[in-house]
Amino acid sequence: MIDLRSDTVTRPTSAMLEAMMKAKVGDDVFGEDPTVNELEAIAAAMFGMEAGVFCPSGTMTNQIAIKVHTQPGDEVICDKLAHIYQYEGGGIAFNSGCSVKLLDGNRGRITAEQVLEGINADETYKAATSLVALENTTNRGGGSCYDFADIIAIREVCNENKLGFHLDGARLFNALIEKKETPKQYGDVFDSISICLSKGLGTPVGSLLLGTNTFIKKARRVRKAFGGGMRQAGFLAAAGIYALENNIERLAEDHLHTKQIAKALATKDFVGEILPVETNIIIAEIKGRLNAAGFTQEMEEAGINLMAISPKQIRMVLHLDVSKEMVQKIISTIEKL
Ligand SMILES: *Cc1c(COP(=O)(O)O)cnc(C)c1O
Repeated sequence: MIDLRSDTVTRPTSAMLEAMMKAKVGDDVFGEDPTVNELEAIAAAMFGMEAGVFCPSGTMTNQIAIKVHTQPGDEVICDKLAHIYQYEGGGIAFNSGCSVKLLDGNRGRITAEQVLEGINADETYKAATSLVALENTTNRGGGSCYDFADIIAIREVCNENKLGFHLDGARLFNALIEKKETPKQYGDVFDSISICLSKGLGTPVGSLLLGTNTFIKKARRVRKAFGGGMRQAGFLAAAGIYALENNIERLAEDHLHTKQIAKALATKDFVGEILPVETNIIIAEIKGRLNAAGFTQEMEEAGINLMAISPKQIRMVLHLDVSKEMVQKIISTIEKL
């Protein structure tokens, strides 16, 4: 099977497994796992941030960040498609007791003007706005990337209104590669950044939350309270170090493959609007003689798994386990439909 349902389906390569097998480990709840400590230090240095904390999932890193940035009863500003709101089990309300101001962005991206309008007046009867969270690249926005100038403009609004500024960077490396940006640019503007190692970077498990020493110290306590304190996690952290050293530049291949497949889709009469393809995600409308479920089934019969995300839309996500040869097969299958 060729699996295009998500970039989380990758399996560790033998080189990554070898790095994991050789990891030196200790009890990370005591802060004694040398490989976890190394991964946290490498990632923090990469982004020019003071510290990092290794967690089992990107949901956990986001939820910890929201918890540290807010008090119960506060309000969080994000796009209406944001992962933190749509796909984290209601965690903002559940874990932090916060309400959410959803903004109507452009494919998951919001602007400084929208953020400014979304801040509640400082009145006793209003929830206190305390955090703005962005997503880059956007998931439900089809892998779209922010223009960095727009991020800077939002930072300024946060400064003027004393708001925390968090980045859900589950796929930030895809954006960095596509836009030729650096991790340090992002470390400079955000108060906290979450990055996933288990998506395009290909590790089996793990995400990192980055921030100041004070922020990360608080984050460690919240991680423990959320049940995310791991013991000999160095075996997993070793995969993360391997991924940061070997699997970032190659994301450009995934982006090329994505564009090639989107081009094949665009020639078909049953394909309607395809969201602009910027990184490793295709979201396309299926219409006329096929619907999303029908197209998904036809592809599945040819050995290609993908996801119908609504009755009219399908999603394909490219990643490390999809080779050039597989891309040729995907294209020829589409051409025959
Ligand atoms: C995948 C993803 C996450 C984290 O997901 P986990 O499965 O909890 O690791 C967070 N944000 C975005 C935008 C994602 O796509």
